[in-house]
Amino acid sequence: MYRSHTCGELRIANVNETITLAGWVQTVRKFGAITFIDLRDRYGITQLLFGEDLQAQIDANPLGREFVIQATGKVSERSNKNKNIPTGEVEIIVSSFKILNRSAVPPFTITDETDGGDDLRMKFRYLDLRRNAVKKNLELRYAVGRSTRNYMHENGFMDIETPFLIKSTPEGARDFVVPSRMNQGQFYALPQSPQTFKQLLMVSGYDRYYQIVKCFRDEDLRADRQPEFTQIDCEMSFVEQEDILNMFEGLVKQIFKDVKDIDYAETVERMTWENAMWNYGNDKPDIRFGMKLANLKFPAHVFAEKYEAAKASLVGGGLEGASFPVFEEAETVIAFAAPGCSEYSRKQTDELTEWVKRPQIGMKGLAFIKCNTDGTYKSSIDKFFTEDKLKAIADAAGAKAGDLVLILAGAEERTRKATSELRLEMGKRLGYRKDNEFKLLWVLDFPLFEYDADENRWVARHHPFTSPKPSDIEVMINNNPAIENPEKYLEHPYANIKANAYDMVLNGNEIGGGSIRIFQRELQEKMFAALGMSVEESLHKFGFLLGAFEYGAPPHGGLAFGFDRLCAILGGSESIRDFIAFPKNNSGRDVMLDAPATIDDKQLKELGITHPQTP
Ligand code: ASP
Repeated sequence: MYRSHTCGELRIANVNETITLAGWVQTVRKFGAITFIDLRDRYGITQLLFGEDLQAQIDANPLGREFVIQATGKVSERSNKNKNIPTGEVEIIVSSFKILNRSAVPPFTITDETDGGDDLRMKFRYLDLRRNAVKKNLELRYAVGRSTRNYMHENGFMDIETPFLIKSTPEGARDFVVPSRMNQGQFYALPQSPQTFKQLLMVSGYDRYYQIVKCFRDEDLRADRQPEFTQIDCEMSFVEQEDILNMFEGLVKQIFKDVKDIDYAETVERMTWENAMWNYGNDKPDIRFGMKLANLKFPAHVFAEKYEAAKASLVGGGLEGASFPVFEEAETVIAFAAPGCSEYSRKQTDELTEWVKRPQIGMKGLAFIKCNTDGTYKSSIDKFFTEDKLKAIADAAGAKAGDLVLILAGAEERTRKATSELRLEMGKRLGYRKDNEFKLLWVLDFPLFEYDADENRWVARHHPFTSPKPSDIEVMINNNPAIENPEKYLEHPYANIKANAYDMVLNGNEIGGGSIRIFQRELQEKMFAALGMSVEESLHKFGFLLGAFEYGAPPHGGLAFGFDRLCAILGGSESIRDFIAFPKNNSGRDVMLDAPATIDDKQLKELGITHPQTP
């Protein structure tokens, strides 16, 4: 027996027991003839006291950080108690010990606040994983997984594995491919998600499926992306959108309860995609705070109806009647009010202007109106606007006395994105985006298609298996997808088709998304055609699915959650990497394994790959 207890277990009630612990040496402190060692394992830290009788042994075999030792001794009450750790009231008076293994001096200290930089910690990830901060993240991840499995089991879902070596499933990203030795010149693709398999399982009658599963996408990486990541992947048969929304807000609420002890009693809010874009400038708004956008000027063709209605309701005609060249030339002008910021100094508004000018945001400048508490208005564009006009703009942005109205102008998409980013930034600065506050949102009614100007064709906004809204099915079947006049693509009947799709948003992050699927061959064929696939191509790529739809495919739908991201948000972190045991860096490298790497000529030859490798 290596140990009788763990290093996190002993309490005052254990005093006088003789016990054995095994673990890693956290610190060694020598005081004359006495040595203290903090011994650490996954469960905690316990103080060991080595008395005079053991000093000769210690001197002969000095103990260093991260040595693995086993120590037997008596639990004793500490005179100098450490209130910060659960074992802090006791220590072990060691009677004998053994070094189980030595350790080289670790490249960084294994403490909560480590001196190791990112790269070093990734290279020695197995040491980094010993740190509490990282361990806590993995524990949280395990808890989220366990809660998920319980909920899914209770609701009759079956966990069914699907293959990793498959044929390419186009879902918008690039595939990772694996050469086949037995079928030279041919390649498997790693799944971007188990999408088609879960749909086939529905055809097979497994009406409630789920899997916590790895997905692979060869994309350019950002802090919240990894080439391989994990999804909670789900699919159900004989369901409508409403059934899915109910089932899966239930899942997330259960996870909140189990993992964070949060009772999320309220019904999850819902918002159409159009309202999200209009009011917040993006399709995953953080609704923990208001600060809605006021669209003062918008190209007439985008959100045409909304724009007309908004324009009509703009107090004092909004921008009309004032001549400010910047606003006149801009395609779009958007404003919002930052509460309580009217007293921002010149330095502060200059700093915000620099913020929006950064290349990531890409704006040329920032206009503002200070709504002073005495009812007057002061603005960076005073010269061009009467006070009445300033008031009208401030009113449109919902500003109150004491607020600061921020205004951006420029090309439609960039301005909308920039305003949305600025809103989030101000939300953060004003303390509206707290790590421990959670707000869920369903975004619904996405457009089914997006227009690809380079290829003058439609692309699927979600993926090609997403069904249009029932009322739009006829529109899709009865119209030719070809876009005759690229200038007027917004007038094509396909531009207004809405998808039976939904995203779940948590605190401004998309944590999951899915759709009701197409389950009739005819509609699926029409979809492939709309995406520019020839009949031959769609049969080559998806013959299996089209074939399956001929054998009694039930109506079905599902969704997938980004498991890593969900964990990161629950853990209050921006980066999913912190919640993955062995993540890759931003260049897609595993710096510990030093992968990807070249392979032997012999391996290449076996695979029939002759392409020379560059080291
Ligand atoms: N397979 C989809 C995805 O990975 C999710 C879904 O539609 O169920 O985004």
